[in-house]
Amino acid sequence: MGATDKSLPSYCDNLQSDISTAINENPKAFVHSREWNKIMNGDPVQINPALGQGFKIMTVNEWSAAWKRNNDFPDCLSCGGKHTVEHHFSQTWTRGKKKWESEALCMDCHMFSWREYCDPDFLAPEEYEKAKWDKTITAYADKVAAEEALMP
Ligand SMILES: [Zn+2]
Repeated sequence: MGATDKSLPSYCDNLQSDISTAINENPKAFVHSREWNKIMNGDPVQINPALGQGFKIMTVNEWSAAWKRNNDFPDCLSCGGKHTVEHHFSQTWTRGKKKWESEALCMDCHMFSWREYCDPDFLAPEEYEKAKWDKTITAYADKVAAEEALMP
């Protein structure tokens, strides 16, 4: 996050719970996991369509060249180095509550550092809609019950 957009809430500001972490030899995120296996086996992987076409046997460095370090979480959880690149990041916000996950590959030890976080009272958008709907139904049932109670 740049110093210029301090007005926007960031996924890593004001955390109210612990970040869960994991260290893995293979990516925990599904994205890139098949390619990682191929890289480890020395099998060809698809060339980044922006750079060319077809398949090629690549080194880890070559394959991950487009990935950038996440400077909010630069540390490798395995070796403590900062020579990492993030290959997976996602965040979900519902009414100011957040949930996110991030996974970085260490270019020194080739281990994957996983981090995930969820606000204690976070509801996924569909859960929030359901909770709102349930509340509406309950409110309606209460209203009907109250009206019935007033009937002679
Ligand atoms: Zn490392």
